[in-house]
Amino acid sequence: MAHTCVHWFRKGLRLHDNPALMAALRDCKELYPVFILDPHLHNNTCVGINRWRFLVGALKDLDCSLRGLNSRLFVVRGKPEEVFPELFDRWKVTKLTYEYDTEPYSLSRDKTVATLAKEHGVEVIYKISHTLYDTERIIEENSGKAPLTYNRMQVIVKTLGPPKRPVPAPTIEDMQGAMTPCSENHEKKYGIPTLEELGQDAAALGEEQFPGGEQEALRRLDKHMKRTGWVCSFEKPQTSPNSLSPSTTVLSPYVTFGCLSARTFWWRLAEVYQGKKHSSPPVSLHGQLLWREFFYTASVGISNFNKMEGNPVCTQVDWDTNPEYLAAWREARTGFPFIDAIMTQLRQEGWIHHLARHAVACFLTRGDLWISWEEGQKVFEELLLDGDWALNAGNWQWLSASAFFHQYFRVYSPVAFGKKTDKNGDYIKKYLPLLKKFPAEYIYEPWKAPRSVQQAAGCIVGKDYPQPIAKHEVISKKNIQRMKLAYAKRSGDSAESANKSPVKRQAVF
Ligand code: FAD
Repeated sequence: MAHTCVHWFRKGLRLHDNPALMAALRDCKELYPVFILDPHLHNNTCVGINRWRFLVGALKDLDCSLRGLNSRLFVVRGKPEEVFPELFDRWKVTKLTYEYDTEPYSLSRDKTVATLAKEHGVEVIYKISHTLYDTERIIEENSGKAPLTYNRMQVIVKTLGPPKRPVPAPTIEDMQGAMTPCSENHEKKYGIPTLEELGQDAAALGEEQFPGGEQEALRRLDKHMKRTGWVCSFEKPQTSPNSLSPSTTVLSPYVTFGCLSARTFWWRLAEVYQGKKHSSPPVSLHGQLLWREFFYTASVGISNFNKMEGNPVCTQVDWDTNPEYLAAWREARTGFPFIDAIMTQLRQEGWIHHLARHAVACFLTRGDLWISWEEGQKVFEELLLDGDWALNAGNWQWLSASAFFHQYFRVYSPVAFGKKTDKNGDYIKKYLPLLKKFPAEYIYEPWKAPRSVQQAAGCIVGKDYPQPIAKHEVISKKNIQRMKLAYAKRSGDSAESANKSPVKRQAVF
């Protein structure tokens, strides 16, 4: 039977390594590639303007590639559970395909849509291609639990062998004559939204550093893979959080939206490594993709992964509620230039280096402000181009020493850390031009500059730029003690629960 097929793009905004799309093309007479602007996912409280721009770019690029296959993208507005029954009837759909998505919202959404599809006699096919492996298979191999250490993850992954090879993008021959019926009012009805339609003020945007889309992703991947020496010697801790141009690949927004397949990235790296001496996980680029897999697997195997309460691996901490501190951090007004420069880069450009994320995340939580990692997670989700449910939650738990990482006494200094790689403070000067006339001696601590120096720099601390929000040396020591208590309570609790129920303790650790 020849099918009328909807391929539902959600993440996975690409043609290459898209096995679900290939499944759609099998015995297909009519193909409808659909993207749904879902008010649950696509709303202005959790998506900042840079991310909107990236998404719009990715959709335009996808539409352009589909045109090359004599097809088009249909952007449908509405809730998936309301939209699909109508589309099934209107287009007489017989098959629905999509990429498997492990986020809790997506799982419940897909379950509902699959039930509706069944009711309409529509066959559903989904494929795993957002991660390197089937994360549930990793959990199975680890006796039903998500690995809680990277070492353990490596052991499991070794038993599974390398990830599957990516499937090539469909060609016009793969379409086998499948048509995409488009009406004259396609643009009006199913066109790609403009930023205005999405309620965004395009005038507020800065230069687009990282344009969305599969073509751009592949171009950037190619560019990096040509730097064979750099790829082979890549060691994450040796890269700089405050270089003026990124010291890592910045492929993360492309991987998050699925403009770039993680497996394609993996195998291109394997080709570069072939026959050469190269760095290894956890610090290599393969190692970075394994970190992604590690947190994805954890997010599947651990309940309430993006929360403290009800999350069995997360230390329960008595974080403060302090809206003023939180706003100062979010709005780059902490009075620590290194922290404020990072938060400015995040807001303006939508990407910051991994170690810059370390610095601001530690500062917000256990280092200085003692605010819950869940609050930081929300801000990152809004502002990061690569905002990803599993990776954001996992890394915030790591940085706040709530899970996975437990050396809570190792605190980043908001002054010394940045100096290691940028003595002159050029990065600060770039993002906080107000401070650019401060001599290097004071750029990380402008409040220490004599009044005359502040005057000469044209910036008086306390008037033009804030006083530091906290006394780092004092507060960080106090916070270490608070963290120590939370850890003591945690081991007390688990000892207590061990007495009551040894099985429960095993599940927690
Ligand atoms: P590269 O160093 O070039 O690494 C290549 C790829 O590996 C990345 O594109 C990414 O897909 C993956 N990767 C690298 N580091 C990590 C990591 N620690 N965890 C998981 N995957 C990794 N990354 C996101 O993609 N989305 C997020 O929402 C996110 N939130 C974070 C929150 C905090 C508090 C911290 C500390 C880190 C977070 N990260 C997140 C992880 C990491 O910082 C970014 O993936 C990385 O900086 C992206 O830059 P890149 O592409 O140049 O990375």
